[in-house]
Amino acid sequence: MNINCLFDSGNIEVIDASDSKAIKLAIRNDSNSEFKQWFHFRAHGEIGKTYNFEITNAKECSYVDGWKDYQVVASYDGDYWFRVHTQFSDGKPLAFSHQLEQSTIFFAYFEPYSYQRHLSLIHQAQHSELSQHIVLGQTVDGHDIDLLIIGDESRERKIWVTARQHPGETMAEWCAEGLVERLLNEDDALSQSLLQDAVFYVVPNMNIDGSIRGNLRSNAAGANLNREWQNPTVENSPEVYHVRNKMKEIGVDAFLDLHGDEGLPYVFVAGCEGIPSYDERLKYLEEEFSLILKSVNPDFQTEFGYDKDEPGRANLTVANAWVGEEFKCLSLTLEMPFKDNANLPNRETGWSGDRSYLLGQTLLNPLYQLVKKLR
Ligand code: ZN
Repeated sequence: MNINCLFDSGNIEVIDASDSKAIKLAIRNDSNSEFKQWFHFRAHGEIGKTYNFEITNAKECSYVDGWKDYQVVASYDGDYWFRVHTQFSDGKPLAFSHQLEQSTIFFAYFEPYSYQRHLSLIHQAQHSELSQHIVLGQTVDGHDIDLLIIGDESRERKIWVTARQHPGETMAEWCAEGLVERLLNEDDALSQSLLQDAVFYVVPNMNIDGSIRGNLRSNAAGANLNREWQNPTVENSPEVYHVRNKMKEIGVDAFLDLHGDEGLPYVFVAGCEGIPSYDERLKYLEEEFSLILKSVNPDFQTEFGYDKDEPGRANLTVANAWVGEEFKCLSLTLEMPFKDNANLPNRETGWSGDRSYLLGQTLLNPLYQLVKKLR
């Protein structure tokens, strides 16, 4: 079997591909860091033949719990992604097999979101009179850091959305795309009404270098961007440095930071309860946001999630905590699963780009209902 990952977001090492019954692979470390879990490669073989793959270093990956009940995604055309039967038990490789229906197939950790699609999102958005594109600066590798401003900048409320600080969490950019396209849909009464009160600042991909390099969590310099918000530097974390400066210039009245979680098979948010200035107003806004989102999109739930921080114990290097403290505003990390939503499973696709996109559209519902109460 021929295996290759020399393309956008490719990541795999071939140890031995000579035996179709046990093709041995390994996931490469993120650039300049120990994180690893994202993989993406294409495989070329004989139509009709079954191939068995083993990711031999699964147990050394960053989130071993992420492999439990996890199913690899695959696609023949790079557009429709389905799950393939996958097995994992502690200490063993991640094992999956597939009978080829075409000669060449992609496998990945989750449905990829390509740099080309990112560029198309930005370039299409600039055609709309509702939006403008700003380049905030350059990444470590020299890519542009893209910001979309959607709506009239004189509107009272400034709502920020960032996605994919962790580049392997591609569902975050699918979600951002859904949100952006609904905002730009001039036939959508809800989004157009929301834009009467608010202007959106959206960074659909915070970590372009890591995305292209096939990293799970790090940028090109090896920084975990979601631990850089207190002291970002131009050298190590220019992505955060430039976005943070723009936030300080513009202000923030609400912030959503979009992520994926390797372990939990649910959609949930993490709030700001551990920041020093957490109060009844922020608590009310967080609870209302969750209640409204749950009522319009049953993929979202509040039963499962992270343990809440004790008062005053938030990690202020994390984006949503830093923004919540700095701007005293509604500030949430939204997590989507790599696996599936266990409450509403789709056995064919698991959690997917489409479901992330639809979630992104419905994120506007709670913002619409709360926009006049944000301050
Ligand atoms: Zn993340």
